[in-house]
Amino acid sequence: MSDLYLKFVNTPVGKTAAQTLGLPAPVPLKRWKRADQPFIEGDVLVGAAGNGKAIAALGSLLGASAASLHHASGVATLEASSGAGNKARPLDLTTEINTRFSALVFDASGMKDTAELRALYDFYHPTIRKLAGNGRILVIGLDPAGCKSPAQAAAQRALEGFVRSVGKEIGKKGSTANLLWIAPGAEKHLDSSVRFFLSPRSAYVSGQVARIGKVTGELAATNPVAPLTGKVALVTGASRGIGESIAETLARDGATVIGLDIPAALEDLQRVTDRIKGKALACDITDARAPAMIAEFVKEHFGGIDLIIHNAGITRDKTLGNMPEHFWDMAIAVNLTAEELIDEELMKQELIRDNGRIVCVSSISGIAGNFGQTNYSTAKCGVIGYVEALARKLKNGITINAVAPGFIETQMTAAMPVTIREAGRRMNSLSQGGQPVDVAEAIAWYCNPGSTGVNGNVVRVCGQSLIGK
Ligand code: NAD
Repeated sequence: MSDLYLKFVNTPVGKTAAQTLGLPAPVPLKRWKRADQPFIEGDVLVGAAGNGKAIAALGSLLGASAASLHHASGVATLEASSGAGNKARPLDLTTEINTRFSALVFDASGMKDTAELRALYDFYHPTIRKLAGNGRILVIGLDPAGCKSPAQAAAQRALEGFVRSVGKEIGKKGSTANLLWIAPGAEKHLDSSVRFFLSPRSAYVSGQVARIGKVTGELAATNPVAPLTGKVALVTGASRGIGESIAETLARDGATVIGLDIPAALEDLQRVTDRIKGKALACDITDARAPAMIAEFVKEHFGGIDLIIHNAGITRDKTLGNMPEHFWDMAIAVNLTAEELIDEELMKQELIRDNGRIVCVSSISGIAGNFGQTNYSTAKCGVIGYVEALARKLKNGITINAVAPGFIETQMTAAMPVTIREAGRRMNSLSQGGQPVDVAEAIAWYCNPGSTGVNGNVVRVCGQSLIGK
């Protein structure tokens, strides 16, 4: 779907017109292009407060990347580990900074009380104007749930407010700000998440907090170019829109994909699965026989499943007083109940392999509510409750997470009345709609074998929409 306004304001005439009239001037977002692309390029500045433990892990990851690494002297104590490709160069923040940074990364996990929050200001105040367009701010903190004292929990929770506000300030340049809350000991398991949040894969994710838990044992080494090699994925609603992009993205990352959609969409579905050398399964997920049919298909063709992506969804909008009962029933059945029943059957038959991933597609409507969508919001909020509860029960490295898309350019949003569509597109920090691939990339991050510590999260892919928290 095409955003003509975005194209127009990026022409010389459009730029001047937007400036003169005080209209939003979104910049085109850089997205992932090549499989062998380094996850970040350019200069990265890393800082830390207190004796944060994440900085060493960051140092070795970033030092080995294509980026040129700096650390802020006075604020940071960076230990670029031995074996890193790039040795960090110190940078004095009190003098003129002549570098443009692709990312400003701060390890705040060592902060013990609110007095230490000053270190955030000291690090970001002199550098934020030096953040390049499409840049990244990433803060690493300690999950407040695991903090020992109220003072430490206050400082760590405060990071969320910081990231959410700074995201709103830098969004006009296409830049994003996010926070990773780690559990004690989880600093060793940051790799896949740092790679995602610093790369163009997270182009439409801003103002978000992801929790990373501790993992027992070592994570298997992954191939950064095709991390899902050998994995089998089920993607529901794969014939078009976001589902099509999820299927393509997981296949790009090495997975073999079973694309599922309603029988009426079989022709389109087959076009998608043929292109990515996957398999097509025509099935209505609300059919009482669907869970058994899916389990049978998985067993017969692959013997088990690694990645289950519950993407199929519908809207049936009407204000509550005008809503016929079948609108309510269908929205709950497709968007919520079918997912539970499919997982239940796959778990009962022990078809989900160790280190498996379940990903649900919720919506910002499920977080903030939306006029005319009581049925849809109820279902999509139920998805969040389901994810949070099941995350606590899963074993053997299996995780469940959700993405909550905002305004994504698909047939669903193209069908909206023009005024609502334009409002949806512009009312976010990046002043534009997301692409289906933005949702798919977040799902691929959850699916990464290195993301075992990422469990029970709901990350919004919404350009930091002004709707909801
Ligand atoms: P879409 O309508 O383009 O695609 C949905 C797909 O699901 C279709 O291929 C459809 O045939 C399939 N489907 C519907 N009912 C099914 C059933 N009973 N059994 C099997 N397949 C079924 O929608 P989209 O925009 O690509 O949305 C994908 C997901 O993202 C949905 O869950 C939607 O609620 C969610 N979402 C989308 C947006 C957005 O802006 N587009 C925003 C928030 C959330």
